[in-house]
Amino acid sequence: MATTPAVSEDLLAKYEPVIGLEVHVQLLTASKIFCSCSTRFGDPPNTNVCPVCLGLPGALPVLNRKAVEFAALAAMALECRINEVSIFARKNYFYPDLPKGYQISQYDKPLAEFGFIEIDLNGSKKKIGITRLHLEEDAGKSLHEGFPDAAHKTAIDLNRTGVPLAEIVSEPDMRSPEEAYEYLTRLKEIILYTGVSDCNMEEGSLRCDANISVRPRGQKEFGTKTEIKNVNSFRFVKQALEYEIERHIEVLESGGKITQESRLYNAHEGKTYGMRSKEQAHDYRYFPEPDLLPLVVDEKWQAAIRAGLPELPEARRQRMMKDYGITAGDAHTLTLTRALADQFESAARTAKNPKRVANLVQSELLGRLKAQGLELERSPISMAGVTASADLVESGAISGKMLKDFYDLCFERNQDFPAVYEEQGRPEQSRDTSALEKLADELIAANPKQVEQYRAGKKTMIGFFVGQVMKASKGQANPQLVNEVLTKKLEG
Ligand code: ADP
Ligand code: MG
Ligand code: ZN
Repeated sequence: MATTPAVSEDLLAKYEPVIGLEVHVQLLTASKIFCSCSTRFGDPPNTNVCPVCLGLPGALPVLNRKAVEFAALAAMALECRINEVSIFARKNYFYPDLPKGYQISQYDKPLAEFGFIEIDLNGSKKKIGITRLHLEEDAGKSLHEGFPDAAHKTAIDLNRTGVPLAEIVSEPDMRSPEEAYEYLTRLKEIILYTGVSDCNMEEGSLRCDANISVRPRGQKEFGTKTEIKNVNSFRFVKQALEYEIERHIEVLESGGKITQESRLYNAHEGKTYGMRSKEQAHDYRYFPEPDLLPLVVDEKWQAAIRAGLPELPEARRQRMMKDYGITAGDAHTLTLTRALADQFESAARTAKNPKRVANLVQSELLGRLKAQGLELERSPISMAGVTASADLVESGAISGKMLKDFYDLCFERNQDFPAVYEEQGRPEQSRDTSALEKLADELIAANPKQVEQYRAGKKTMIGFFVGQVMKASKGQANPQLVNEVLTKKLEG
């Protein structure tokens, strides 16, 4: 929980937050960006290393072509312009997990610039600018054993040094923690669709630094910013920003000044803490990396990369709503992952009624998944299974109630719908009308007033009778059949 300093609503309203985000995304190449070492996560420490990524003197980097293509593809998906020529630069700093003493990054000539992400907050759309997307190598990892014990030990794992990253820097265009959360959600979704990263935050494949300042509403100039480093969930980014906004306001209101610094968010306490800001002062003494040529991504190469750009989530949602007549809510659920959307679409193309497929996912599948704590991808009932069941309901072969029972069985046994349906002997709802006719006769005799109204022209009264029959049959009756039988009797 975020424990925020107590700032009144009035004061909150007096200031406008300004937020810019820096996101690091690990690219899914098999090997590192400047050597052939594996990027596999979770291997024993220091087993995926060589003279290049260990930073041994004289070792020379060789650029990974796939890393460039992944970064460029991500940049295109984010509507960036690709710079035909970009330059690698050394960012010099000392840190135990950086044996070379510098990180190879890009500085004044990045791979891509001038992109944007469109966010949508309660129906109001806004474009958040993307300043740049550049390539860089990751650093190693310090493992603090026994921390915070005074006698704790720190070990270094260099498997991660040289893993390719795309850094995506936003313009300071966001004005609330909600906008920041939405931006990150959209960003992750887009990157996942391109397939260039798994965006796994637990494994550090997606990391976020949040820059925040506040200014009195109406003021043009930005206030001094602080940077919250390496927050590992979007929810925490939002909480950290909420905390930090109130802290800035408190400092300013009490006549103080915000010092530009990096801060850490402690999610347990819901507070941010300043890191030593003097030692952190930015003087990276960037200069062009002498061991690498300028990176040239010419038009031909750009076109080849662009050919691999998939339909992106927002465009896909809009098209699916049109193609299948489904709601925005349905489209949102069905595009949560690219794989799911693919499955839905291949099923929907053969379905009798794609809308019913979408409906069943929302009304019958999601609730059951949630109850078992399962993601949609882990559903025992596949999209093809949902479609098969939807078609059976559509044709009147099975009732809605039967479908629910089958779904329960599927979840109980962790089996797909067709298997369970087959095993139960492909039961169909009854088409024998004798029992129905008897029920209908009884109802007509017991409800003369309603019969009279129906016969006087109030045809909607049929709904009352259908409802009664369905209730009496505990939902097992075939609604279509019930309708036919009742109409015949009432008209007769
Ligand atoms: P730095 O040199 O400190 O890294 P940059 O100008 O490169 O700063 O910006 C880093 C990030 O901080 C960007 O995402 C940018 O949008 C954001 N940013 C810059 N100035 C501000 C500000 N005054 N308030 C909030 N965010 C800011
Ligand atoms: Mg920065
Ligand atoms: Zn290596």
